[in-house]
Amino acid sequence: MAYKNIVILTGAGISAESGVATFRDAGGLWEGHRVEDVATPQAFRRDPDMVQQFYNARRAQLPSVDPNPAHYALAKLEGELVGDVLIITQNVDDLHERAGSKNIIHMHGELNKVRCLGCGAVHDWLADCHRESPCPTCEAEGQLRPDIVWFGEMPMFMDRITRALSTCDLFLSIGTSGNVYPAAAFVAEVGRTGYAESVEINLEPSLGASLFDTCLHGKAGTLVPKFVQEILEA
Ligand code: NAD
Repeated sequence: MAYKNIVILTGAGISAESGVATFRDAGGLWEGHRVEDVATPQAFRRDPDMVQQFYNARRAQLPSVDPNPAHYALAKLEGELVGDVLIITQNVDDLHERAGSKNIIHMHGELNKVRCLGCGAVHDWLADCHRESPCPTCEAEGQLRPDIVWFGEMPMFMDRITRALSTCDLFLSIGTSGNVYPAAAFVAEVGRTGYAESVEINLEPSLGASLFDTCLHGKAGTLVPKFVQEILEA
């Protein structure tokens, strides 16, 4: 079948072969930290320096990791499909962009951005961010936070995501454990306005695996390029 409108959800698993740690695989720890210590608004209020340090370290790691064949295959799909391809990523890294994908929604924010709690401005930010770093827009100090959606916060761009899910003819979920909502429920949203297929590519069955039409289990770096080639040749 020749698909015309493909929506792809990616999670930490697609970046694992690039050397970026997932957290479910490490017993619920993210780079050795409990999620509630670094990825909640409460943690930031309690210890902003520690949380900034955690995200500074994740941001500083980005230039030392590269996209892998799964990221490149999705960029090729977008470039060559006669139709639309949208990536909705839960990842906060920039590996889809660096592989060449253009149509990307970062529903959980981006490591390379900060947001001012005072004026709301969002800025590209490649260096470390500290408590005394002033906001480039309003110049206030102590107001910048990582532009990351923490647990307990609303994901970004949900209206656009809901529309895209209801109109796609293929929903592909790659490298996500199905633990984090609302992304884990996206598969139930697809095909509201017409026929759509759903495919999961993950190292192991995700929590929502039974909701997909097809499940392919193995490494994204191997399975995604193969799957993309099949779609382009269909
Ligand atoms: P997760 O850590 O909960 O699950 C990752 C899934 O990927 C697991 O089911 C695992 O089996 C699978 N996986 C591991 N290696 C794989 C491989 N080589 N090929 C295919 N699948 C593989 O990740 P999640 O579901 O994305 O949820 C985690 C949350 O943590 C996200 O919201 C995200 O914002 C954040 N996070 C982001 C990054 C990143 O930006 N790269 C890294 C860690 C955590």
